[in-house]
Amino acid sequence: MCDRSAQILEVAQVGDLQNTILLNNRALLPGLVNAHSHAFQRVIRGRTEYRTANERDSFWTWREMMYSAALRLTPEDVYDASRMAFLEMALSGITSLGEFHYLHHAPEGSAYDDPNLMAKEVVRAANDVGLRIALLRVAYARSGYETETNPQQIRFIENDPAAYLKNLELLEKDLGEIDGARRMAWTGVAPHSVRAVTLDYLKEVIGVANSKQLPVHMHVAEQPAEVSTCIAEYGRSPVALLATEGLLSERFTGIHVIHVTPKAIRMLADARAMVCACPTTERNLGDGIVPVSRFFNQGLRVSLGTDSHVEIDLLEDARELEYHERLLKTERVVLASAEDNGRSALAARLFDCATINGAESINAPGGNLEPGRPADFFTVDLDDPSIAGASSDDLLSAIIFSLSRTAIRDVVVGGKRIVEDGRHAQQEDIVERFRALQKKLWG
Ligand SMILES: [Zn+2]
Repeated sequence: MCDRSAQILEVAQVGDLQNTILLNNRALLPGLVNAHSHAFQRVIRGRTEYRTANERDSFWTWREMMYSAALRLTPEDVYDASRMAFLEMALSGITSLGEFHYLHHAPEGSAYDDPNLMAKEVVRAANDVGLRIALLRVAYARSGYETETNPQQIRFIENDPAAYLKNLELLEKDLGEIDGARRMAWTGVAPHSVRAVTLDYLKEVIGVANSKQLPVHMHVAEQPAEVSTCIAEYGRSPVALLATEGLLSERFTGIHVIHVTPKAIRMLADARAMVCACPTTERNLGDGIVPVSRFFNQGLRVSLGTDSHVEIDLLEDARELEYHERLLKTERVVLASAEDNGRSALAARLFDCATINGAESINAPGGNLEPGRPADFFTVDLDDPSIAGASSDDLLSAIIFSLSRTAIRDVVVGGKRIVEDGRHAQQEDIVERFRALQKKLWG
């Protein structure tokens, strides 16, 4: 039951309900929280899956292809691409997202009159679709340690932390004015990586984020080269650098965190930092496997992100956490906690990664169905062929391991139904405009 402010008042037993609409043959679940997105990358879906001239394709060759698309997008294009990504998120049960946004400047590198024009186009897209968004504004200072400037990064660079912080403050003010108390859009701080931001810059922006209690997101140890270069520059791995400089906290989320030692994992756990895994993207990019069982053993909270949007299905990301470990260990049920042998224990743990842990990471108000939280939820059709016949004991496992997106019928954000019977009201318009954008970009 929820009130006029769209907050949940009470979670009741079916027998106690009066004057309510019963959702026949539906299960109702808290909305999913997508903690790591680069919305504009939706335009390169399916367009990087071939050999380039290089003898070995990798994350780095993919990145050059992604940059060349990023260089061509106008603010309106970013709006159309973002709306497409967010539509697909809504249809898959996502109600809040964290957008790791680094496309700041005009294509030739000059700042727009409004330095947050691009960020606001992404926020506008999320709000038009009806999703909550944390705009995690990215700080990006350089191509890397002793690395020549990459001209394809010209739209990302803000050399000076003071300029970054000024633009962040402007964005906070503007979003506050647009949003008021609805908590549909807010900001966070996202130093891109130890490669792209120097230590002094990092200290300055993370210091401000901590004083304002903002979420801090950063790519950490996605590729072995990032780790070895950090050791060459600072004599420490990325996690050790962040830990020894006092930059980790319970508001810090490391994105990917793949190439890490047991000692680094303990440092993250000691600081109560969080991790966001993006296994669908990581397998697509050949990044490696997130060592989630070791994270869980140390009590680290893990959230999930659809990142590059090669596919948008957060429940697929949840099941991959488990499946990748099964393949590595040739075992089953690897991520179930040692203390809980319940039939839904593994599924519940994975579902927490897709909901409440993501909400904690991006500071979203949803993530759980309990009094005081907003009415952010989705329903699934229990007769959908992908889960038909599941018993109540096994329903959550069936949803985590087998649900098709076709089963998702209603999606509600802040008490407002944005997906009804599997369709979004703006679906045709969003798809049509996105198709026109793709034609313009690729012919
Ligand atoms: Zn990313």
